[in-house]
Amino acid sequence: MTPSSDTDFTLDETLDAAIRDAGARLARAAHPMALTGAGLSVESGIPPFRGPGGIWTKYGEPPMDGYQRFLRDPAAYWRERLSPKQDWMRALGDAVREAKPNPGHTSFVELERRGMLAALVTQNIDDLHRQAGHRRVLEIHGNHRLLRCVECNTRFDPEEIAVDTAALPPLCPHCNGIVKSDIVHFGEPIPQDVLRACFEAVAKTDVMIVAGTSATVYPAAELPFEVLRQGGVVIEVNPEPSDLSAAATISLRGPGAAVLPRLLEHAVAAREGRA
Ligand SMILES: [Zn+2]
Repeated sequence: MTPSSDTDFTLDETLDAAIRDAGARLARAAHPMALTGAGLSVESGIPPFRGPGGIWTKYGEPPMDGYQRFLRDPAAYWRERLSPKQDWMRALGDAVREAKPNPGHTSFVELERRGMLAALVTQNIDDLHRQAGHRRVLEIHGNHRLLRCVECNTRFDPEEIAVDTAALPPLCPHCNGIVKSDIVHFGEPIPQDVLRACFEAVAKTDVMIVAGTSATVYPAAELPFEVLRQGGVVIEVNPEPSDLSAAATISLRGPGAAVLPRLLEHAVAAREGRA
């Protein structure tokens, strides 16, 4: 038995053997990549969007046409954003400021540092992969910390954009386009630059780790199945079975914060010929 970093979870020998198998495949991969989702954030103490204790459960679901509303009246969008009213985005911001990356995030950083992870795609908007030290993160739903020009897709730190409440919305200093939160709202297309980079990475991928996501929302849902169609390996890491479990090459049933550090150990051992 191997004690894990998660207090409620212990890796048993059957699971550890499966992780060793996954680690060996990862060590042999030519172009490994990862896809992560909300489960990894929940393990860092960030509430989920839906379900008991969910941010949208408490504050209400955002409108399904959020992006169209923004386009119709960007100034109103900004007035709402700047108002002191407690809404789900503000609640999420508060939760995220308290949260720290967990051993799942840091395991991905270590894989990237060792040249064992060519790309990481996340559905999470909480910035925790970057805070953990990950260099290149493809955030398909955006990053809550950043602003983005809807015309040229340039991302800005908030301090780079002067917000004049008498002249909303703020405009892009490069192309004069309208600036909004980098978060992808309902009804908003995934920014083309990120989407293109995702599919370029997937086209080269022979091993994909899917951690903390049931991968049911497009485009994330497409990515593991595209890897499988190419004859690649999909390693699922999730405490609960998901829609992907039956199709995945290997399903590792456990929290990312416990399974991913062990996967890193096995992959490094396999690469160094110790396993
Ligand atoms: Zn622009």
